[in-house]
Amino acid sequence: MVGNGAEPHAVVTGGAGFLGSHLCDALIASGHRVTCVDNFETGRAANVRHLDDEPRFALLRRDLNVYEGADLAGPVDVVYHLAAPAAPSDYLLDPVATMRSASSGTLNALDLARARSARFVLASTSEVYGPAGDEPSREDQVGQVDPADGYGAYYESRRFAEALTTAYRSTYALRTAIARIFSTYGPRMRLDDGRVLSRFIRQALAGAPLTVPGPGTQTRSLCYVDDAVAGLLALGRGGYPGPVNIGSPETVSVFTIARTVAEIAGPDAEVVFVEPPAVDVHARRPDITLASQLLDWRPRTSVRAGLTATLAWFQRAVARELS
Ligand code: NAD
Repeated sequence: MVGNGAEPHAVVTGGAGFLGSHLCDALIASGHRVTCVDNFETGRAANVRHLDDEPRFALLRRDLNVYEGADLAGPVDVVYHLAAPAAPSDYLLDPVATMRSASSGTLNALDLARARSARFVLASTSEVYGPAGDEPSREDQVGQVDPADGYGAYYESRRFAEALTTAYRSTYALRTAIARIFSTYGPRMRLDDGRVLSRFIRQALAGAPLTVPGPGTQTRSLCYVDDAVAGLLALGRGGYPGPVNIGSPETVSVFTIARTVAEIAGPDAEVVFVEPPAVDVHARRPDITLASQLLDWRPRTSVRAGLTATLAWFQRAVARELS
């Protein structure tokens, strides 16, 4: 049973996902009790299996679209709401489910926090800013998105979740916070999320050439998961409502990412250029002035160190599967 000890109690929705599982780890390490609520739609029990024997950890397999937290024992100090279709492949597959989860799921998570007088932290996304411009995205910029362009289900659902969170703050004085998370990577990331780094890791693991859409000058902003989690924790601890950007302000070219992954993978790894994409997409990158001033937060992990740890984790995971 979770929630009636003396330790602070955190509920992590989507806690069996990539980011959520690392957040559960960090919360346990910092002395919390943690209840992970996840329906395993895109998350995996394996992501939190190492916490099976941890007495301060509980895993509830629940669909947050209908779950209201009635079986959660005791007080709750903080709710981190991460449950949402996160990858383009998810939300394009079922845009209605995406919107249902942002509305019903976020309502239920907010009501749970309100019923327990807990702090509420929403894991929002840089996607609320719309297409990347030349300048880093700042929190006071109004995102430009088209609700009817086919991607609207994702953008608008996340904007709706932010608006709902803000409404609970103004209407019920709920202590809320909004993190706008930018592209994050690391161990347990999903390799089917359609991102270029996921493809490079899959190719490196298979011993296949890493395919860079020529000429590879497109840029990405990559934040290592431990850094992103540190940002979420800082937001959860403080009183700042946000929104606040959590991401890497540095950009790195797609070619550099491929070359670095290849160098880490070993001397046989090869990088080849393939047909460039029809539209040359550059990454959104954050202005993190607010996070550094208010939370004393900024990413600390170099891209090389983060990619080394990530690839090593996946190599071990493949070796485990084969053994
Ligand atoms: P993920 O897919 O690994 O995790 C999402 C988790 O939510 C999964 O475990 C899934 O099973 C769970 N979930 C989805 N719908 C649910 C429901 N109705 N009830 C219960 N559980 C449900 O994705 P992630 O990359 O870990 O992302 C977590 C959060 O962070 C998402 O809200 C995402 O939008 C946000 N975010 C992530 C990134 C990134 O780069 N990973 C960037 C920006 C924002």
